[in-house]
Amino acid sequence: MIGCDCEVCSSTDKKDKRLRASILVQSAKTTLVVDTGPDFRYQMLRQKVKHLDAVVFTHPHKDHLAGLDDVKAYNFHAKKPMNLYADSLTEEALRRDFYYAFTDTKYPGIPELKLNTITLEPFVVGDIPIVPILVWHLKMPVMGFRFGKFTYITDANRIEETEKEKIRGSEVMVLNALRKQKHISHFTLEEAIAMVEELKVPTAYFTHISHQLGLHAEIESELPEGIHLAYDGLELEFK
Ligand SMILES: [Zn+2]
Ligand SMILES: [Zn+2]
Repeated sequence: MIGCDCEVCSSTDKKDKRLRASILVQSAKTTLVVDTGPDFRYQMLRQKVKHLDAVVFTHPHKDHLAGLDDVKAYNFHAKKPMNLYADSLTEEALRRDFYYAFTDTKYPGIPELKLNTITLEPFVVGDIPIVPILVWHLKMPVMGFRFGKFTYITDANRIEETEKEKIRGSEVMVLNALRKQKHISHFTLEEAIAMVEELKVPTAYFTHISHQLGLHAEIESELPEGIHLAYDGLELEFK
Protein backbone atom coordinates (compact mmCIF):
# COMPACT_ATOMS: atom_id res chain seq x y z
CA MET A 1 0.00 0.00 0.00
CA ILE A 2 1.26 3.48 -0.90
CA GLY A 3 2.86 5.20 2.09
CA CYS A 4 2.70 2.14 4.34
CA ASP A 5 5.69 0.72 6.17
CA CYS A 6 4.06 -2.28 7.85
CA GLU A 7 6.00 -5.57 7.90
CA VAL A 8 4.29 -6.77 4.71
CA CYS A 9 4.84 -3.56 2.76
CA SER A 10 8.49 -3.46 3.82
CA SER A 11 9.09 -7.21 3.41
CA THR A 12 11.90 -8.31 1.10
CA ASP A 13 10.08 -11.58 0.22
CA LYS A 14 9.04 -11.32 -3.45
CA LYS A 15 5.79 -13.06 -2.58
CA ASP A 16 4.82 -10.07 -0.42
CA LYS A 17 5.02 -7.75 -3.46
CA ARG A 18 1.48 -7.85 -4.76
CA LEU A 19 0.14 -6.02 -7.77
CA ARG A 20 -3.59 -5.80 -8.43
CA ALA A 21 -5.50 -9.05 -9.02
CA SER A 22 -5.60 -10.40 -12.57
CA ILE A 23 -4.87 -13.64 -14.42
CA LEU A 24 -3.68 -14.56 -17.88
CA VAL A 25 -5.29 -17.65 -19.43
CA GLN A 26 -3.57 -19.29 -22.35
CA SER A 27 -4.34 -22.23 -24.65
CA ALA A 28 -2.36 -23.36 -27.69
CA LYS A 29 -4.15 -20.76 -29.81
CA THR A 30 -5.62 -18.12 -27.53
CA THR A 31 -4.39 -15.72 -24.84
CA LEU A 32 -6.73 -13.68 -22.69
CA VAL A 33 -6.56 -11.79 -19.44
CA VAL A 34 -9.22 -11.53 -16.79
CA ASP A 35 -9.36 -7.82 -15.83
CA THR A 36 -6.99 -4.97 -16.65
CA GLY A 37 -6.22 -3.37 -13.30
CA PRO A 38 -3.97 -0.33 -12.83
CA ASP A 39 -0.92 -2.63 -12.99
CA PHE A 40 -1.88 -4.21 -16.34
CA ARG A 41 0.88 -2.54 -18.34
CA TYR A 42 3.63 -3.55 -15.94
CA GLN A 43 2.24 -7.09 -15.59
CA MET A 44 2.31 -7.54 -19.38
CA LEU A 45 5.86 -6.13 -19.58
CA ARG A 46 7.05 -8.28 -16.69
CA GLN A 47 5.61 -11.50 -18.16
CA LYS A 48 6.66 -10.48 -21.69
CA VAL A 49 3.19 -11.09 -23.11
CA LYS A 50 3.55 -10.41 -26.82
CA HIS A 51 0.08 -11.29 -27.96
CA LEU A 52 -3.33 -10.81 -26.37
CA ASP A 53 -6.64 -11.82 -27.96
CA ALA A 54 -9.15 -10.60 -25.39
CA VAL A 55 -9.93 -9.13 -22.01
CA VAL A 56 -12.69 -10.69 -19.91
CA PHE A 57 -13.98 -8.53 -17.06
CA THR A 58 -15.24 -9.56 -13.63
CA HIS A 59 -16.85 -6.29 -12.47
CA PRO A 60 -16.62 -2.51 -12.90
CA HIS A 61 -14.45 -1.53 -9.92
CA LYS A 62 -11.50 0.66 -10.85
CA ASP A 63 -8.87 -1.78 -9.56
CA HIS A 64 -10.08 -4.20 -12.27
CA LEU A 65 -10.50 -1.77 -15.20
CA ALA A 66 -8.07 1.11 -14.85
CA GLY A 67 -5.27 -0.31 -17.01
CA LEU A 68 -7.37 -0.92 -20.12
CA ASP A 69 -5.94 2.01 -22.09
CA ASP A 70 -2.67 0.10 -22.46
CA VAL A 71 -4.21 -2.60 -24.67
CA LYS A 72 -3.36 -0.10 -27.42
CA ALA A 73 0.07 -1.75 -27.64
CA TYR A 74 -1.69 -4.96 -28.73
CA ASN A 75 -3.82 -2.97 -31.20
CA PHE A 76 -0.58 -1.67 -32.66
CA HIS A 77 1.06 -5.10 -32.97
CA ALA A 78 -1.99 -7.05 -34.19
CA LYS A 79 -3.50 -4.16 -36.19
CA LYS A 80 -6.98 -4.95 -34.93
CA PRO A 81 -9.32 -3.94 -32.11
CA MET A 82 -9.10 -5.67 -28.73
CA ASN A 83 -12.06 -7.90 -27.93
CA LEU A 84 -13.59 -7.10 -24.55
CA TYR A 85 -16.08 -9.38 -22.83
CA ALA A 86 -18.14 -7.74 -20.11
CA ASP A 87 -21.62 -7.89 -18.63
CA SER A 88 -23.90 -4.88 -19.08
CA LEU A 89 -22.97 -3.33 -15.72
CA THR A 90 -19.24 -3.43 -16.52
CA GLU A 91 -19.89 -2.33 -20.10
CA GLU A 92 -21.55 0.82 -18.79
CA ALA A 93 -18.47 1.62 -16.67
CA LEU A 94 -16.11 0.92 -19.59
CA ARG A 95 -18.04 3.30 -21.84
CA ARG A 96 -17.94 5.97 -19.13
CA ASP A 97 -14.34 5.54 -17.93
CA PHE A 98 -12.89 5.17 -21.45
CA TYR A 99 -15.38 7.46 -23.25
CA TYR A 100 -12.68 8.70 -25.64
CA ALA A 101 -12.38 5.21 -27.15
CA PHE A 102 -16.11 5.04 -27.84
CA THR A 103 -16.79 8.44 -29.46
CA ASP A 104 -17.05 9.20 -33.18
CA THR A 105 -14.36 11.85 -32.97
CA LYS A 106 -11.40 9.67 -32.07
CA TYR A 107 -7.89 11.07 -31.89
CA PRO A 108 -4.72 9.10 -32.75
CA GLY A 109 -3.08 6.85 -30.16
CA ILE A 110 -6.18 5.73 -28.30
CA PRO A 111 -7.10 2.07 -27.81
CA GLU A 112 -9.38 0.33 -30.31
CA LEU A 113 -11.92 -1.65 -28.36
CA LYS A 114 -14.61 -4.08 -29.44
CA LEU A 115 -17.23 -4.75 -26.79
CA ASN A 116 -18.92 -8.13 -26.54
CA THR A 117 -21.72 -8.35 -24.00
CA ILE A 118 -21.79 -11.46 -21.84
CA THR A 119 -24.52 -12.85 -19.63
CA LEU A 120 -24.53 -16.00 -17.52
CA GLU A 121 -24.53 -18.07 -20.72
CA PRO A 122 -21.31 -19.96 -21.46
CA PHE A 123 -19.22 -18.36 -24.21
CA VAL A 124 -16.05 -19.08 -26.14
CA VAL A 125 -13.01 -16.86 -26.71
CA GLY A 126 -10.88 -18.28 -29.54
CA ASP A 127 -10.60 -21.93 -28.51
CA ILE A 128 -11.21 -21.31 -24.79
CA PRO A 129 -14.71 -22.21 -23.51
CA ILE A 130 -15.78 -20.12 -20.50
CA VAL A 131 -18.60 -20.63 -18.01
CA PRO A 132 -19.55 -17.45 -16.15
CA ILE A 133 -20.35 -17.82 -12.44
CA LEU A 134 -22.34 -15.11 -10.68
CA VAL A 135 -20.96 -14.16 -7.26
CA TRP A 136 -21.82 -11.26 -4.95
CA HIS A 137 -19.52 -8.40 -3.87
CA LEU A 138 -21.90 -7.08 -1.20
CA LYS A 139 -24.67 -5.84 -3.56
CA MET A 140 -22.68 -5.86 -6.78
CA PRO A 141 -22.90 -8.85 -9.11
CA VAL A 142 -19.42 -10.05 -10.11
CA MET A 143 -18.52 -12.58 -12.78
CA GLY A 144 -16.39 -15.54 -11.78
CA PHE A 145 -15.23 -17.78 -14.59
CA ARG A 146 -14.71 -21.50 -15.02
CA PHE A 147 -12.18 -22.60 -17.63
CA GLY A 148 -12.41 -26.41 -17.79
CA LYS A 149 -10.91 -27.75 -14.56
CA PHE A 150 -10.02 -24.28 -13.28
CA THR A 151 -12.26 -21.68 -11.61
CA TYR A 152 -11.32 -18.04 -10.99
CA ILE A 153 -13.29 -15.94 -8.54
CA THR A 154 -12.30 -12.56 -7.17
CA ASP A 155 -14.12 -9.83 -5.25
CA ALA A 156 -16.82 -11.99 -3.71
CA ASN A 157 -18.29 -12.33 -0.27
CA ARG A 158 -21.27 -14.54 -1.13
CA ILE A 159 -22.03 -17.30 -3.64
CA GLU A 160 -25.52 -18.65 -4.24
CA GLU A 161 -26.26 -22.39 -4.24
CA THR A 162 -27.00 -22.58 -7.98
CA GLU A 163 -23.67 -20.95 -8.78
CA LYS A 164 -21.75 -23.19 -6.34
CA GLU A 165 -22.88 -26.10 -8.55
CA LYS A 166 -20.90 -24.63 -11.44
CA ILE A 167 -17.72 -24.61 -9.33
CA ARG A 168 -18.00 -28.14 -7.94
CA GLY A 169 -15.77 -30.62 -9.77
CA SER A 170 -13.05 -28.03 -10.43
CA GLU A 171 -9.54 -29.32 -9.78
CA VAL A 172 -8.17 -25.92 -8.88
CA MET A 173 -9.85 -22.71 -7.87
CA VAL A 174 -8.66 -19.20 -7.19
CA LEU A 175 -10.73 -17.31 -4.65
CA ASN A 176 -10.41 -13.92 -2.99
CA ALA A 177 -9.35 -13.72 0.67
CA LEU A 178 -8.70 -10.16 1.79
CA ARG A 179 -7.57 -10.39 5.41
CA LYS A 180 -8.48 -12.00 8.72
CA GLN A 181 -10.80 -9.24 9.94
CA LYS A 182 -14.36 -9.07 8.68
CA HIS A 183 -14.92 -7.00 5.53
CA ILE A 184 -18.15 -5.73 4.02
CA SER A 185 -17.61 -7.06 0.48
CA HIS A 186 -14.71 -9.54 0.48
CA PHE A 187 -14.32 -13.03 1.94
CA THR A 188 -12.03 -13.15 4.95
CA LEU A 189 -9.33 -15.82 5.13
CA GLU A 190 -11.56 -17.97 7.31
CA GLU A 191 -14.59 -17.55 5.02
CA ALA A 192 -12.53 -18.37 1.94
CA ILE A 193 -11.16 -21.55 3.56
CA ALA A 194 -14.70 -22.59 4.53
CA MET A 195 -15.92 -22.00 0.95
CA VAL A 196 -13.13 -24.14 -0.57
CA GLU A 197 -13.85 -26.91 1.94
CA GLU A 198 -17.59 -26.73 1.28
CA LEU A 199 -17.07 -26.95 -2.48
CA LYS A 200 -14.54 -29.78 -2.03
CA VAL A 201 -12.12 -28.33 -4.56
CA PRO A 202 -8.83 -30.15 -3.84
CA THR A 203 -6.48 -27.26 -4.62
CA ALA A 204 -7.10 -23.57 -4.04
CA TYR A 205 -5.09 -20.37 -4.24
CA PHE A 206 -6.18 -17.17 -2.54
CA THR A 207 -5.88 -13.82 -4.27
CA HIS A 208 -6.87 -10.14 -3.87
CA ILE A 209 -4.91 -10.16 -0.62
CA SER A 210 -4.54 -7.03 1.52
CA HIS A 211 -1.28 -6.15 3.26
CA GLN A 212 -3.39 -6.56 6.42
CA LEU A 213 -3.45 -10.35 5.95
CA GLY A 214 0.16 -10.73 7.07
CA LEU A 215 3.40 -12.10 5.65
CA HIS A 216 3.02 -14.64 2.82
CA ALA A 217 5.31 -17.21 4.43
CA GLU A 218 3.59 -16.99 7.83
CA ILE A 219 0.03 -17.24 6.51
CA GLU A 220 0.95 -19.97 3.99
CA SER A 221 2.22 -22.15 6.85
CA GLU A 222 -1.11 -21.82 8.72
CA LEU A 223 -3.30 -22.97 5.81
CA PRO A 224 -4.99 -26.38 5.51
CA GLU A 225 -3.61 -28.93 3.04
CA GLY A 226 -4.33 -28.05 -0.59
CA ILE A 227 -4.93 -24.37 0.17
CA HIS A 228 -2.29 -21.80 -0.66
CA LEU A 229 -1.79 -18.08 -1.03
CA ALA A 230 -1.35 -17.11 -4.65
CA TYR A 231 1.54 -14.82 -5.52
CA ASP A 232 2.43 -12.61 -8.46
CA GLY A 233 3.86 -14.67 -11.31
CA LEU A 234 2.34 -17.98 -10.13
CA GLU A 235 1.76 -20.34 -13.08
CA LEU A 236 -0.58 -23.36 -13.19
CA GLU A 237 -0.72 -25.89 -16.01
CA PHE A 238 -3.67 -28.05 -17.03
CA LYS A 239 -3.56 -31.03 -19.40
ZN1 LIG B 1 -14.29 -4.93 -6.40
ZN1 LIG C 1 -11.02 -5.64 -6.46
